[in-house]
Amino acid sequence: MKKLNIGILGATGIVGQNYIRLLQNHPWFQIIDVAASPRSANKTYKEAVEQKWQMAIPIPHNLQNLIVRDVQDFDSMSNKVDFVFSAISLPNKEDIKNIEFKYAEKGIPVISNNSAHRWTPDVPMIIGEINYEHVNVIPIQQKRRGFKKGFVVVKPNCSLQSYLTPIYALEKAGYKLDKLIITTLQAVSGAGYPGVSSMDMVDNIIPYIDGEEEKTEREPLKILGTVGEDGIINNNSIEISTTCTRVPVIDGHTASVNIHFTDKIPKKDEIITIWRNFKSIPQELDLPFAPTQPIIYLENIDRPQPKKDRDNDKGMAVTVGRLREDNVFDYKFVSLSHNTIRGAAGGAILNAELLVTKGFIK
Ligand code: NAP
Repeated sequence: MKKLNIGILGATGIVGQNYIRLLQNHPWFQIIDVAASPRSANKTYKEAVEQKWQMAIPIPHNLQNLIVRDVQDFDSMSNKVDFVFSAISLPNKEDIKNIEFKYAEKGIPVISNNSAHRWTPDVPMIIGEINYEHVNVIPIQQKRRGFKKGFVVVKPNCSLQSYLTPIYALEKAGYKLDKLIITTLQAVSGAGYPGVSSMDMVDNIIPYIDGEEEKTEREPLKILGTVGEDGIINNNSIEISTTCTRVPVIDGHTASVNIHFTDKIPKKDEIITIWRNFKSIPQELDLPFAPTQPIIYLENIDRPQPKKDRDNDKGMAVTVGRLREDNVFDYKFVSLSHNTIRGAAGGAILNAELLVTKGFIK
């Protein structure tokens, strides 16, 4: 297969750097365009990023001399770009929405990590293993907005897949849930670079992340929703209450989750079997970034741990442990996923693979 040519918007940031790292040797995609803020524009990628490079590999040789484009400089973009990943961070969400739609208008599919379009009803918010059929909103979006080839697809907040995938697996097995209480312990890389200052973070926990609790409580409702005539219709059958904290961990968002079933309550062993056997479309299609086993359950009483478990299956698996009965709800468990891989660049690459397979990116 001839490789598709891709661009990275926000290529100099933490998520952007992860795209650069993860896409080295991707069998279907090759990077030909890197873009960032006007501060980085017209520098080589190496010059723009070397002071803030955070990856454990050197800046790839083949990309060091690519000239960084201003994200809004459409004239300098190669007409060979087939689609872009967006990992830009701007203070005003409206600016991000406009930029991403502008790419779509110009015929370029956008797969975004940003939260700006997560609540646009005709923009699907996809976790490959859960709501892959939401790609069917794309023709609705294209028709409504007059896009011919382009469109915008987003992925959800970086902490969400760690608990939503296990919850979805239970729902799919016929055990509906109606109440969740979630406390997240989120890594510092989730705040981008340079993020939270070390004086604030070392020897400390910060019990507040701006906007995060709202995202954690609302986004699952869209992901578990259905495709309607004008876009996604939310599923409001689950009530969610969250507390989101920032902890001194570099990578890997952990969540402590209490769950309540609507009526039928499965046995503990059954839950673990459901999780271990859960597979979905990315596994059936054998997509390059699909984890072999999307949910890994560990019996050890002191797992999952970010340091030991975040990289399971290329950082794409969700690792769960400590399933036990709850005195107030039915059960509680601890789950973990890699925020910049499964929760950002890796999750978006998996979405792109899905969109290629389904014929939306050609
Ligand atoms: P980051 O490290 O702060 O990087 C931000 C990127 O945006 C940089 O490439 C920066 O370019 C670019 N940028 C800043 N101002 C810009 C402007 N005015 N015009 C165009 N580009 C501009 O942030 P990040 O952590 O990579 O996050 C990127 C996006 O992904 C955010 O929307 C974030 O919410 C989302 N996200 C992050 C994570 C995570 O775990 N970190 C997970 C999921 C989603 P310069 O280098 O030139 O300034």
